[in-house]
Amino acid sequence: MTRGNCFFVLVFIFFWNGYSQEKAEEFLWPGGQKLAVSLSYDDALDTQLDFVVPSLEKFKLKASFYILPNAPSLNDRLEEWRAVVEKGHELGNHSMYHPCRKSLPGRDWVPAHHDLDRYSLEQMLEELTTANTFLKAIDGKSERTFTPPCGVLMIENEKEYIQKLHEIFVAYKGQGLENDFSAVYAPQGVSGEQLIELVKNVPKKTSLVNIIFHGIEGDYLSVSAEAHNELLKFLADNSKDYYVDTFINIMKYANAR
Ligand SMILES: [Zn+2]
Repeated sequence: MTRGNCFFVLVFIFFWNGYSQEKAEEFLWPGGQKLAVSLSYDDALDTQLDFVVPSLEKFKLKASFYILPNAPSLNDRLEEWRAVVEKGHELGNHSMYHPCRKSLPGRDWVPAHHDLDRYSLEQMLEELTTANTFLKAIDGKSERTFTPPCGVLMIENEKEYIQKLHEIFVAYKGQGLENDFSAVYAPQGVSGEQLIELVKNVPKKTSLVNIIFHGIEGDYLSVSAEAHNELLKFLADNSKDYYVDTFINIMKYANAR
C-alpha cells in the first residue's frame, strides 16, 4: 500500500466535551503541568520502528502508534510492533483499510475501494470494531483510541457516527473541533526548532497539543530524525512544564475530570 498523501491537514483546535465550564488555566495534568503533549505516529511505518521507538526509549517518553492491519510493516515486523506495547506505548485504531474521501483535492492516490465517500456508516463501524479485535490480538487490550484516516470523519450520518465513536473508543483525535481545549498538528519537513515552537506557542486556553507524525527520516510526510529528536529532548528536559503520555492515558485523565 502506498499512501503518498495520508494527510491530516489540520492545524485545528478543538474542544472536548465537558470542558466548556472549566477554564483551561485551571486544568492541570498529573504532574501539575498546564500542557499535555500527545506524540502519535500514524500508518505503521517502518521508520517509526527504526527511529521513533529508540528515541522514545532514550528520552523515556510514551507515545501512541495508530497502526493499520493492512500495512506491510505489520506483516513483516509483527513482533517488533508487539514489543512497542511492552515498552509502554499505545497501539491505536486507524481503521483497517484507511478509507479517505477521494473527492477531496489531492486525493487521487485513494483507491476506489478505499473511498470513504462510498462507505456506509455500518461498513465503517464494522471496520473500526474489526480493527479493535485485530489490535486486541496483538496486545490483549480492550480499550482504544482512534485517529480518523486523513483526519476526516464521515460526512453523511456524521452525528450518528460521532455518537458511535464515543461508544467504541475512549477518545478520538479531532473530537470536538469547536473548542480550543486541544490543538492538532501534523508537521512535515520541519526543523526541531519549528516543532518546539508548536508546543511553546499553543493558544493560551489550550491544554493538550497533539502532534501527529508519519515517516521519520524516510517513508512519507516525513520529519527528519534530528528534528524529531530535538523535540523529544526538549520535552524530556522540560517535563515539569509538559505532560507527555500515551493519548489513551491523557484522555482517561481528562475524561475523569
Ligand atoms: Zn493515516
